[in-house]
Amino acid sequence: MSSNEVQAEIQYETVIGLEVHVELATKTKLFCACANEFGSEPNTNICPVCLGLPGSLPVLNERVVDFALRIGEALNFTVPQRSIFHRKNYFYPDMPKDFQTSQYDEPICAEGWIEVDGERIGIERAHMEEDTGKSTHVGGGGRIHDADHSLVDYNRAGVPLMEIVSHPAMRSSEQARGYVSELRAVLLAIGVSDVKMEEGSMRVDANVSIRPVGTTQLGTKVEIKNMNSIRSLGRAIDYEVERQTIATNTGERIVQETRHWDESEGITHGMRSKEGSSDYRFFPEPDLAPVAPTDEMRAAARAAIPELPAALRERIVAEWQVAEHDARVLVANPALSDYAQESVAALASGSARDVVNWCTGELLAYGNETGSEPNSWALSPIALAELVGLVGDGAISRSQAKEVLAGCLAGEGAPSDVASARGLAQVSDEGALAAIIAGVLEANPDAVAEYRTGDEKAQKKKRGFLMGEAMKASKGQGNPALLNRLLDAGLA
Ligand SMILES: [Zn+2]
Repeated sequence: MSSNEVQAEIQYETVIGLEVHVELATKTKLFCACANEFGSEPNTNICPVCLGLPGSLPVLNERVVDFALRIGEALNFTVPQRSIFHRKNYFYPDMPKDFQTSQYDEPICAEGWIEVDGERIGIERAHMEEDTGKSTHVGGGGRIHDADHSLVDYNRAGVPLMEIVSHPAMRSSEQARGYVSELRAVLLAIGVSDVKMEEGSMRVDANVSIRPVGTTQLGTKVEIKNMNSIRSLGRAIDYEVERQTIATNTGERIVQETRHWDESEGITHGMRSKEGSSDYRFFPEPDLAPVAPTDEMRAAARAAIPELPAALRERIVAEWQVAEHDARVLVANPALSDYAQESVAALASGSARDVVNWCTGELLAYGNETGSEPNSWALSPIALAELVGLVGDGAISRSQAKEVLAGCLAGEGAPSDVASARGLAQVSDEGALAAIIAGVLEANPDAVAEYRTGDEKAQKKKRGFLMGEAMKASKGQGNPALLNRLLDAGLA
């Protein structure tokens, strides 16, 4: 047996810690009154403070502290009486001050946790810091080393961030994805950020290492950057674990470094060796007073926390009898879950489950396609309740309801008006439907005979055919439940 084969038998476990940067959805920046806006013309939301011009002084945005306190509350953090800002010194063109104002050893939030699939994941800290500007490298494929020139946009410089740092507590890419999606749902629910990974308002860096199963010492970690979705995060971690496992098994040493995830190639590339924290020469920011939230500020933040996603999901599953998956999809979108709750409260007939089905199906797709929010839809939550009621009462069929829904969203009016304007009504008159079934059976004697003599598969096929003919004969307006019953009776 070669030494390679011996080593290959070692079982490794994966150790993952995540650093999540979230842009806070405040109106203005962290230390100045410039607008905090995505997509403005470059270098239009800037002033001496966020450009770091000599003599300018920062003033802390109180709204940021409010949002940090909400995060503290929602993620079970301890919020100390006092926290302070530090200067993190380094040079980069997108950061004109030559230091980033951040928090270091006294962050605003310490030791919290979040529950993911029944397990608590520890979060070491969450701290406030300013974002940097954005460089664009022109020519040569957009990479700095072969670009013709570079452009810098300082609109993002000084935008408030919370950096949320987990313990190295996760053991699989699936758990890491679960952590990020739960964190995302919580941050959305408490209204502190729009958490769009594709626009960069939520950025996730993963620290990944492996170690032999049964050992407790951490292996050499690699930091992966540039994942633009939760799915990419999972792919990048899986790739990195495999790379590290192969390297270790072939006797290669893992180097502590930052690696860049390449989405199209599906691999990570080495970037630069990781600087230790001492390189940044952190020192207390002399221009900002310590942050000492008052009891009133803490109480206001607590009062601003709605029912959190985990509790809301649990309640929806129990009270509305919907599947866990559907509850998850709904609750991941707070505006849509508010909409659904309002609609369910207005139900006269039909079920909450039907409301959720419309919300997570057609309506979610409509919102994504049109980029619109539920509160702007021409179909109000109360109108959706009416639509669900029309189906529940048998006045229109489910497929007719889709047409009515489209009409309502196009602004044609209330569901009952749209249904009558379009001549949509379900026929539930038993006598009329029985006549249709009798006609279909008479017109298709071969199919009936094959149904009566065929095996289960043939029966299913013929029955489906006859049901289709009956639906056609009713011009799509026959009550399907009633037609089914009458067809069974006719075939018996
Ligand atoms: Zn400014």
